[in-house]
Amino acid sequence: MQYEGIVYRPPSEARSLILQLTIGCARNTCTFCSMYKAKQFRIRDLAEVTADLEACARLYRDRVRRLFLADGDAMIVKTRDLLYIIHRAFFLFPLLERVSVYAAPKDVLAKTDEELKALREAGLTMAYMGLESGDDEVLKRVRKGADSAQIIEAGRRLEAAGIAVSITAISGLGGCERMEEHAIHTADVISAIKPSYASLLTLMVEEEVPMAKEIREGRFTLLSPKQIMEETRLFLTRIDSEGTVFRSNHASNYVILAGVFNRDIPDMIRRIDRAAALSEYRPESWRGL
Ligand code: SF4
Repeated sequence: MQYEGIVYRPPSEARSLILQLTIGCARNTCTFCSMYKAKQFRIRDLAEVTADLEACARLYRDRVRRLFLADGDAMIVKTRDLLYIIHRAFFLFPLLERVSVYAAPKDVLAKTDEELKALREAGLTMAYMGLESGDDEVLKRVRKGADSAQIIEAGRRLEAAGIAVSITAISGLGGCERMEEHAIHTADVISAIKPSYASLLTLMVEEEVPMAKEIREGRFTLLSPKQIMEETRLFLTRIDSEGTVFRSNHASNYVILAGVFNRDIPDMIRRIDRAAALSEYRPESWRGL
């Protein structure tokens, strides 16, 4: 298997075989993200990807149960080629159970409902989609390249096709400037999609990203741990997404939360209030991306 550059995957894909269908992110504009800044985007040659899969099958034929398609937005690949790779993977790995992918909203919208259904029938069971924020002003400021209406439509269409959506938002992404709007509109977008899974990371800004310059110039103000938890509390009081499995247990988070919406919201709010009363936040030195 050939890998190019640093390869990222969601935490829940730790036991998956990772296959790069693309290199980098086709947009690569988000002001807070450093993941693919060192890579020039391209779609890999299908023959090269197939050769990687075949080489891997010679070694791990009976050990691969999950396959994750990277890099940043493998849904940009033509449906015909995605179907070919997924079928080939199920043929080469007889114990394969599921295939998942990072999906940018606009790449989902570029596919028809029939294409999404065909991908699901072939074995694509999960798509990880970055919402980042439900607030259009924040999405514009961070140069996400999609607005809340597009993200809602993409999420709903994936779920309607039977592809479980795992959606991620970033606590603190509105800064102090749009803390409330970020919390409320993020909750509203998730409530409108009702994804299978939702999670919150917490903003961490690396030195080389454009947002770091905004902070230095006073155009963006980071939230304190206490404010992050106030924002999360507001988000939880607003959300209505029955049955969505929720996690806020990433290394970047100040307080670990986990539960199922709407059932476990009161418990999670109690956990936040307890942490706030005792100032029990993960120390900065323990946080990581
Ligand atoms: S956040 Fe996602 S869409 Fe934005 S630059 Fe990073 S990988 Fe690309």
